[in-house]
Amino acid sequence: MPVTRRAFLETSALALTGLAASAKAHAAPTPSNHAAPAPPTVVASRNGIRGVRKAYEMMTNDQADPLDAVIAGVNIQELDPNDQSVGLGGRPNADGVVTLDASVMHGPTRRAGSVAALEDIASASLVAKAIMDYTDHIMLVGKGAKRFALGMGFKEQNLLSEESRQDWLRWRSQLSPDDDWLDHEDDVMIERPGGTINMCGVDANGDIGSVTTTSGLSWKIPGRVGDSPIIGTGQYCDNEVGAAGSTGRGEANIKVCGAFLIVEFMRGGMSPQEACLAALERAVAMTEDRLLDGKGRPMFSLNFYAVAKDGRFGGATMYQYPDEYLEVLPSRGSYAVANADGARHEPLHYVYDQNQLPGGLRDRMMERVERIRMERAKEEE
Ligand code: ASP
Repeated sequence: MPVTRRAFLETSALALTGLAASAKAHAAPTPSNHAAPAPPTVVASRNGIRGVRKAYEMMTNDQADPLDAVIAGVNIQELDPNDQSVGLGGRPNADGVVTLDASVMHGPTRRAGSVAALEDIASASLVAKAIMDYTDHIMLVGKGAKRFALGMGFKEQNLLSEESRQDWLRWRSQLSPDDDWLDHEDDVMIERPGGTINMCGVDANGDIGSVTTTSGLSWKIPGRVGDSPIIGTGQYCDNEVGAAGSTGRGEANIKVCGAFLIVEFMRGGMSPQEACLAALERAVAMTEDRLLDGKGRPMFSLNFYAVAKDGRFGGATMYQYPDEYLEVLPSRGSYAVANADGARHEPLHYVYDQNQLPGGLRDRMMERVERIRMERAKEEE
């Protein structure tokens, strides 16, 4: 169903009624009393499939703290040079420099840490945690953040992999036919990929931790900071309610404080699934005209993931992926979950079905499908 302004207002009114009806909604969070055992559950963006397994095992086998567990989960992607959206091997900014954003939140102690525009240190999530653990601040950025990390013993390394450097060179050469950089015939068209990993976990005591880490939007203007390191936007956690996080267009999420909004929606009575969809609808309602198609639908994607204190979970995205797309990239349109039923991908719910995809978005997806098909055919030759 397309989201009309009226539907949005109705959803919001409903949520607000829920909030008003609940005295707890206005109460400051109190420390967990460990009274209600929860089925341990971890949710993450699609690329967190290895990480949710690890985090779940750490929480259940080793009684690890939920924040330590989800950070260990995202460390797998941060240190994997083949994940070009996070940490080592992440795609660089317009100057060819990899800069990382990350944030963490620890439910039981109600603490948070965050780092933005961090250079040369792969595990930004651990730097965010060190800021939480060792300082009275919540957020450090740029040069100061790197100095802090080096002082804490983090290792300095070149984060730009050869693959990401080549992608950046291609992007630069394709920027304009009139510039001084030559295009090469073997250059495939370079898209503008994003990518991030968010992971939220609740342990058997109902204690919660959440983390989001990213190299951000590829080819961004140097200095740009996305949603991931902003507490309440890239991720948020309230030990009395649950946690949520996001991937996708950070600029759309920042304007709705998506992760905080989802947790508040859950506090008001929505399920994690309903809360993720309602937050996406809010993001649509807050979209400026230049990013809407003729029918009022956004020309970008945004994803939310959430887990409740009792182990219920959900995930939602703006658009259903077209069938052709899922044929070549089957895990798209899904998110990662681990609980007593194992680690697996679950389908993301969506605001708009594939027939409602704006033409421009659909064309870009279909071009990608074609390119992947051609690459695979070439490999088979
Ligand atoms: N949310 C990330 C950012 O805006 C990018 C992404 O997840 O694609 O930096």
